[in-house]
Amino acid sequence: MPDYETFEHDVLIIGAGGAGLRAAIEASAAGVRVGLVCKSLLGKAHTVMAEGGIAAALANVDDRDNWKVHFADTMRGGQYVNSWRMAELHAKEAPDRVRELEAWGAVFDRTKDGRILQRNFGGHKYPRLAHVGDRTGLEMIRTLQDHGIHQGIDVYMEHTILSLLKDGDRVVGAFGYERRPRLQNHEQ
Ligand SMILES: Cc1cc2nc3c(=O)[nH]c(=O)nc-3n(C[C@H](O)[C@H](O)[C@H](O)COP(=O)(O)OP(=O)(O)OC[C@H]3O[C@@H](n4cnc5c(N)ncnc54)[C@H](O)[C@@H]3O)c2cc1C
Repeated sequence: MPDYETFEHDVLIIGAGGAGLRAAIEASAAGVRVGLVCKSLLGKAHTVMAEGGIAAALANVDDRDNWKVHFADTMRGGQYVNSWRMAELHAKEAPDRVRELEAWGAVFDRTKDGRILQRNFGGHKYPRLAHVGDRTGLEMIRTLQDHGIHQGIDVYMEHTILSLLKDGDRVVGAFGYERRPRLQNHEQ
């Protein structure tokens, strides 16, 4: 076994929380070969801890909500130092991302008439958090994982990236190590 191995991918995504998993699904759908690296086991990212829910102006509970109010809340919550363009994209796209999770099998709590239930959360003018009890993050990551593993993504678990490899100004790869269980004394 060599001391090192090289893997080649068209797209390498470092991190397999909600952001990384969704990026991997998108890249894979474009038909390229995708590698997804996480330093822990797949599914054990911070995303799993998100208990409150997902902010999205679906207006299921209060029809005064819309992406503009969500955008304003986000900018105010960030003391106006946040990137307005990212906040705008987030506010505009969040409802479609929640509906997409639902279509991929995510379970949400429901209103009496069967729509995704939303609740209040700090900084939100109207009830906006799509949720399932206090385990929304778990449901989100489970759904993305279930969907992602059928897309042909190569997953490298327990691989920690230490540095990015560059060709001039362009990032062309990454260098890291695989964590292996420590050998007991008698096995060394
Ligand atoms: C307790 C708690 C409660 C929260 N509640 C909410 C909530 O209710 N609603 C909400 O919207 N947000 C909530 N958040 C925030 C939300 O969870 C995070 O903003 C979101 O999950 C970040 O997602 P991510 O994919 O960017 O990162 P993460 O989910 O943190 O994933 C990071 C990934 O990167 C990998 N990684 C990191 N470094 C390396 C490396 N060097 N090499 C290889 N892999 C690496 C990790 O293994 C992991 O897979 C909460 C956060 C916490 C901690």
